[in-house]
Amino acid sequence: MCQPDIELLRRHTASHIMSAAVGMLFPDVKRGVGPWTETGFYQDFDFGEAEVSDKDFKKIEKKMRWIVNKDFKVQKRMLSGEEARAAFPNDEYKLELIDEILDRGEELSFYDFVGEEGRVFYTDLCAGPHLESTGQVGVFKITKLAGAYWRGDENKAQLTRLYGIAFADAEGLEAYQTMLEEAAKRDHRKLGKELDLFTFSELVGPGLPLFTPKGELLRSTVGDYLKQLKESKGYQHVWIPHITKKDLYETSGHWDKYKDDLFHVKGKSDAEFVMKPMNCPHHTQIFASKMRSYRDLPLRLAETTTCYRDEQQGELLGLSRVRSLTVDDTHIFCRIDQIQEEAEGVIDIIRQFYTSLNMWEGDNFWVSLSVRDPEKPEKYLGDPANWDKAESFLESVAKNNDLPYKRIEGEAAFYGPKLDFQFKDAIGREWQLATLQIDFVMPERFKLEYINEEGQKERPVMLHIAIAGSLERFLSVIIEHYAGAFPAWLAPVQAHVLPVNSAHEAHCEKLIETLKEAGARVEYYDSSDSLGKRIRNCQKARVPFAIVVGDKEVESGNLTVRKYGEEKDQVMTVDEFKAALGRG
Ligand SMILES: [Zn+2]
Ligand SMILES: [Zn+2]
Repeated sequence: MCQPDIELLRRHTASHIMSAAVGMLFPDVKRGVGPWTETGFYQDFDFGEAEVSDKDFKKIEKKMRWIVNKDFKVQKRMLSGEEARAAFPNDEYKLELIDEILDRGEELSFYDFVGEEGRVFYTDLCAGPHLESTGQVGVFKITKLAGAYWRGDENKAQLTRLYGIAFADAEGLEAYQTMLEEAAKRDHRKLGKELDLFTFSELVGPGLPLFTPKGELLRSTVGDYLKQLKESKGYQHVWIPHITKKDLYETSGHWDKYKDDLFHVKGKSDAEFVMKPMNCPHHTQIFASKMRSYRDLPLRLAETTTCYRDEQQGELLGLSRVRSLTVDDTHIFCRIDQIQEEAEGVIDIIRQFYTSLNMWEGDNFWVSLSVRDPEKPEKYLGDPANWDKAESFLESVAKNNDLPYKRIEGEAAFYGPKLDFQFKDAIGREWQLATLQIDFVMPERFKLEYINEEGQKERPVMLHIAIAGSLERFLSVIIEHYAGAFPAWLAPVQAHVLPVNSAHEAHCEKLIETLKEAGARVEYYDSSDSLGKRIRNCQKARVPFAIVVGDKEVESGNLTVRKYGEEKDQVMTVDEFKAALGRG
């Protein structure tokens, strides 16, 4: 088994230390699960009658520090079912977990904190792995407390979940806290309101964002640019309805797995319909709508369209986690030996798109190449020879394009290998955005065929491609990345035009007309407030440019421009200004 990241071991070990510390203060406590998370760790507790609040954090942290200073060895021990049950006779949660592990035919591993002379200070059921001793944990902090149902089931007992974070040293903790403060300032839910980009309505329902005129401008600017990039590579756009008979997903194989996460639609007939959670099966039906020949391949079908998933209400979060998500989707149907060239085209689009966002830079992104686990070939469907080719095509493309890629064995989906693009935002958080997945299975399920040069039927391979991913999530990422101050090409309002006083109004109107004709998104900002105040307001609204028009400008025809975030004006011609609104 590969050893996880040291930070994950640190968090996991810290969760046991918190668990042990809580046990010192509340001897009757029972414990649910306590894993590491993306940013920290948590542990669920049943405190029984005891009242626990954030006022107890300091006390618990003090005990945790004591455990860290004792530097207990963390040792693994295997127990039989009987021994395991005897170790936790009164803890129904542990007993349930123990029975489940035994039912799965797995072994029961326990971890002990072992002190001087082999004395066991604390023990817990856990699959590991952990750090070697508690002293290696470093610094930590309990961050919050929340209710959590046992097994995430609201019909089961409500437990108390304590969350924490752990770092090697104080600097790590401090950097993390600074990042959190910065993230709070950039929170897209807060900025979305301030900049008037989107809203939610109780009547419409949770997880269903409504985009305002400015938000829709932002969204369509991204969408239109993607459409243009795709069309330049020969992608053709299609349109599909948002509901389908369930039969489509029975054929694709998604029904059994995902039927509980779909919105079901009842019509007049007996046929069962659902809102589409994805577009791939619909697109296969466009491919299958007529006899295809090798001359039709590659067939590249693109569509930016909304999908619907019945996400748990508790998991919904602003635009990052929604029930209506708009995917910039592409499906390419091609022959195996066309994969490499198609993948090159996809990389070109991804490169251009993320370059225009200043995100395609040095170590600000990396690419994971997910391939098969060589030890478990039975996990993957499709011809192994095709898998070999597809994996080597993707790797060649990554090499040819100098992508900073990591080959990750065992991460491929059962239906094919993939490339995922991970981007770092302005405050160092990583987001998986663009993706290119190869699929040997769906063409099989839908029995897709084309006629090859010899007049024989052959099965195409399918590529699933998303450049921005879900537009809603993508917008949440870039709103936070830019803290709302978008590059000019993307900003919903690119410039405000400010007359020094009402005498300059007519000139402003003419200028706005000229700029609008060139496709610029500009607004007039009348002279009822002082010029200084108006310039400050433009900055507050994060408008990329404020154009000031006074006597000098009327006379010369040039523009005096204050760029967002700058303290000095620039003088430029109208043409120079138009160029400044482009993608550079
Ligand atoms: Zn553990
Ligand atoms: Zn797809």
